Amino acid sequence: MATGIETESRKLLGRLRDAMAQDSDGQARLDKIVSLTATSMRTEVCSIYLFRDEETLELCATEGLKAEAVHETRMRLGEGLVGRVAKLGKIVNTADAPSAKGFRYMPETGEEIFSSFLGVPIQRLGEPLGVLVVQSKEAREFSEDEIYALEVVAMVLAEMTELGAFVGEGAALSARHTQPVMFRGGIAQEGAAEGSVYLHEPRVVITDPIADDPHREMERLSEAVDQLRVSVDSMLQNSKVGDPEQTKVMEAYRMFANSRSWIRRMEEDISRGLTAEAAVEKEQSAARARMAQVADAYLRERLTDLDDLSNRLLRILTGQGKDTGAAMPDKPVLIARNIGPGELLDYGRDLKAIVLEEGSVGSHAAIVARAWAIPLVINAKGITTEALNGDQIMVDGEQGIVHLRPDDTVRSAFRDKMAMLTKAQERYSSIRERAATTLNGDTISLHMNAGLMADLPSLNSSGAEGVGLFRTELQFLVRNQMPSRTELASLYERVLKSANGKRVVFRTLDIGSDKVLPYMKPQEEPNPALGWRAIRVGLDKPGMMRMQLQALIRAANGKPLTIMFPFIAQFDEFRAARAEFEKAMARERKLGHIVPEDVEIGAMLETPSIAFAPNAFFEEVDFLSIGGNDLKQFFFAADRENERVRRRYDTLNVSFLSFIEQIVDRCNETNTPLSFCGEDAGRPLEAVCFAALGLQSLSMRPASIGPVKSMLLKTDLNEVRDIIHTARENGEQSVRPALKDWMANRD
Ligand code: PEP
Ligand code: MG
Repeated sequence: MATGIETESRKLLGRLRDAMAQDSDGQARLDKIVSLTATSMRTEVCSIYLFRDEETLELCATEGLKAEAVHETRMRLGEGLVGRVAKLGKIVNTADAPSAKGFRYMPETGEEIFSSFLGVPIQRLGEPLGVLVVQSKEAREFSEDEIYALEVVAMVLAEMTELGAFVGEGAALSARHTQPVMFRGGIAQEGAAEGSVYLHEPRVVITDPIADDPHREMERLSEAVDQLRVSVDSMLQNSKVGDPEQTKVMEAYRMFANSRSWIRRMEEDISRGLTAEAAVEKEQSAARARMAQVADAYLRERLTDLDDLSNRLLRILTGQGKDTGAAMPDKPVLIARNIGPGELLDYGRDLKAIVLEEGSVGSHAAIVARAWAIPLVINAKGITTEALNGDQIMVDGEQGIVHLRPDDTVRSAFRDKMAMLTKAQERYSSIRERAATTLNGDTISLHMNAGLMADLPSLNSSGAEGVGLFRTELQFLVRNQMPSRTELASLYERVLKSANGKRVVFRTLDIGSDKVLPYMKPQEEPNPALGWRAIRVGLDKPGMMRMQLQALIRAANGKPLTIMFPFIAQFDEFRAARAEFEKAMARERKLGHIVPEDVEIGAMLETPSIAFAPNAFFEEVDFLSIGGNDLKQFFFAADRENERVRRRYDTLNVSFLSFIEQIVDRCNETNTPLSFCGEDAGRPLEAVCFAALGLQSLSMRPASIGPVKSMLLKTDLNEVRDIIHTARENGEQSVRPALKDWMANRD
């Protein structure tokens, strides 16, 4: 039996729909909605505030406030009670608005006489669109039922906004998804590309959020939920054969698919007049809003599961979605909230660029994009809700900027930039075979960093002399299951084969910190970058390292082998790791395998401590490689993953360069071969400084070899040394300004 409140709510939605159906302009529709809502809720005021831009809300329609205030009254996000609702994505319900936290008096609206205030966010799938408010003179708090009723109206408003129902001159609302929008994100892989949007998960469009017949909608929901359960059960069945992790995820899915409270909430929405799909989306929006507030990683995961299930349910109800979605356009640029490496590999190499709403530089998607050398921009907030399949898009991976539906000026500037990059690439390929010999006659050897089989073809195309850093953990990260020794041995063998005699420095597993294996229990650590990672894990749980060392020895099959241990912070750790290697060699010999005779065992220099190790350490290692990414974060005590502090300290800071110079000197004194394999080695200015300080070997992303070599070829390192020296003498903080001046005068 429908309650009185439910009937009232349905009546209101019915009237709203009639109002929408009339051939009126956007403003007239908004005006009608506020008037109908105020009557139905028995309040003197009902107002709609919509976002003008990310930070500003505008009063777009009102019943009860002064009409002159419409399109005049604006507030910043977080300002006043309305701004608070928008900022927090939460309801504000108070009987005494003037004394509520955040109240701001707005004389132009005549607001001060209204005591009660109820504001609910208008949002679509977690994207804030505005705020819907009712106010009354009588001091009363609104009941749960009234809040619910207003939320349902807000939901309908959100859907209508998406469908463009409020576009029109009077409303001064522009149609959504038609304007040029620029997104500023993070750089995960450089390059520039132009193409058409291809959504990883196309948005489901709900054409009618308001239902006539709640019984029919209940049935539709129930049938769809049954279908969802069957599909989850069959996924569970299939994953049983596979890995246990996936099974666990599937079981969590099943739990949600059977969750009574989730289904009850959707039924409640339907009984108030929403269609089944609108009900699913309303609950999905609420879950997304909660997700934004939740810090706990486990809970977030569960909310993501729920989000995924809601998507499946929406696809069942509307028949839209992945399988029936758009065909891949020409020059596809993939847009996703986040994506796993497997899914990305499925799209294949046709992709021109990738833009993620979330993601991180160390993410698996970033690893694949790097291997494919296509631009990847991460943290492009809002892109999945703004972009539509087929929209024109330009991705500037050099600056982490994305232009969606760019206008003519942007388009032509971007094309100029692309042309410049292509020209530069041509220039680089013409010097591919040349040695990186500087004007003063020093030759610097340039190597590449790698981690996937897909990286190996770059060994030839980039002109690298070898692989200076092979991050073996990437192979572990892109799988759902721990690889076996045989799998590893055959992989390393393939790597060595493709290297065709060029030196490959295999770094043993560097996990922990930001690199979490999907099949290993994550460690709760207060400070993972300073925690149980890399060689510390290797030595404490030697099983995995032993297996890896064995696989490497077998893969070498008698040919030269180079191994490097990560994150060595004190001498003993290197000795213990090397002892593990010797044991592995002895075991292999005993088993009758051919073992390599030419073996080099080195260490990464990633903590300041090891730069001050006794001479004996420098003499004992076969070589050292500076892991500048980690070394720099510890030198400046600035987390490399923390966008707030990451860029605060310049690599060309005089103190850091002096530190690098000391390391070079110590290696020279002890005849220890030294290289630099952090990201900075791939930046031309940094690279010439390192070379000027005496580093003779640099390892970098394959795409950086051309630009670095081109810079070295036209540089006299003595001049760079003078610049560093002078900056130091003059008490400068960084060498960069002087170096840039020198370059500008030189070119
Ligand atoms: C480094 O720290 O500089 C390095 C090369 O290792 P990773 O980036 O894999 O930590
Ligand atoms: Mg490191």
